[in-house]
Amino acid sequence: MNDCIFCKIIKGEIPKDFIFESENLVVFPDINPSADIHLLIIPKIHISGIDEIKDEHGNLLVEIYQVVEKLASENNLKDDFYRVVVNGGKAQHIPHLHFHLLGGQWKRMV
Ligand code: AMP
Ligand code: ZN
Repeated sequence: MNDCIFCKIIKGEIPKDFIFESENLVVFPDINPSADIHLLIIPKIHISGIDEIKDEHGNLLVEIYQVVEKLASENNLKDDFYRVVVNGGKAQHIPHLHFHLLGGQWKRMV
């Protein structure tokens, strides 16, 4: 998808500092945070959303939740409040699958 903002960030066409990067995913802060800590965990491959998840993405989903655990630990969220949100339908604004990690005090719903 040529006009996908997350693909452009992943390809380096839009500059962005990554908090974490692996072969399969990147993590960076949400530009409009809805909580004290609001990180986006994004697969490098363009999967448009929940509807497009296939059996072959199983390992990727495991890696995503392992990275969530690492980020929760690094941000001292394990004894605080944290939540992972995946928006779909009209709640999803960017059509490239991504996971919101929200921690600490909430400002609004993502
Ligand atoms: P969603 O509504 O689930 O599709 O979430 C998209 C999220 O991406 C929103 O929380 C936006 O604030 C965030 N976002 C949009 N553009 C950027 C960007 N350039 N850098 C970081 N976060 C972004
Ligand atoms: Zn994309």
